[in-house]
Amino acid sequence: MQNAQLATKTDLNRQTRVQLRSNVVVGGTDLLIVGGPCSVESLEQMETVADQLSSIAVQALRGGVYKPRTSPYSFQGLGEAGLEILDTVRKQYDLPVITEVMAITQIAVLAERVDALQVGSRNMQNFDLLKALGQAGKPIILKRGLAATVEELVMAAEYILSHGNPNVVLCERGIRSFDPYTRNVLDLGAVVALKQLTHLPVIVDPSHAAGKRELVPDLARAAIACGADGLLIECHPEPEQSISDARQALSLDTMAALVESLQPIAAAVGRSIPMPLQPFTHHPAA
Ligand code: PEP
Ligand code: MN
Repeated sequence: MQNAQLATKTDLNRQTRVQLRSNVVVGGTDLLIVGGPCSVESLEQMETVADQLSSIAVQALRGGVYKPRTSPYSFQGLGEAGLEILDTVRKQYDLPVITEVMAITQIAVLAERVDALQVGSRNMQNFDLLKALGQAGKPIILKRGLAATVEELVMAAEYILSHGNPNVVLCERGIRSFDPYTRNVLDLGAVVALKQLTHLPVIVDPSHAAGKRELVPDLARAAIACGADGLLIECHPEPEQSISDARQALSLDTMAALVESLQPIAAAVGRSIPMPLQPFTHHPAA
């Protein structure tokens, strides 16, 4: 990796911390747990998710409003209406929010409303988008491409860093292989390698790797055991009813049990899980 000067680790102790909010940081001792549905579907859905996740040790919400779908006839996301919903729950529950950016033209409007922008696997090598995100002024969660090598992922991060944005979080989300039993193959070897090679935080998305909800909790625990700085997990109030990625969505109860089960593993590898950002509160309908 001859040209990777910004992302690679020259000093072994160097570790970048990326701040999503003043009290939500990834890359330190504390793990970052992000949860939420694949797609934002309705205000009610996101309020239910935010209400339950804010009472457990989940520090940020996810939810796509611009969705990269294989078929142009599949649900493409709620767009600006979805962004309004994210903005509402972000303020109501004081939780940082992450959503995917697919195009340069979306950056400004998304940056006003969300705390971090996700670059999806399908855009990992959209170099013009990466360059523009160098100027976005928001942390970037950069997902590994469907069949990208570790070097290609590091170089994609390098595009964002070298264009002015030091706040990049790498995300391993599984790579394509021959076996359709799992949607992708979760490459924990890459997580270990990225932690050694770079000073950037590395999180793991076991949901898109596994593609099946029953595989997600064990993979999530394995990711923390091998040194990941956090997790990005899809969960939904009614997982089977999810408009996208239903098969891999956890119920909110399973999500809570999973987060609880991470505590001893985190402790065993010298990490901690921050307490819930806010005590459980009911928000009665007006
Ligand atoms: C997502 O997070 O919903 C998503 C589309 O992920 P990926 O880009 O990893 O497929
Ligand atoms: Mn998804």
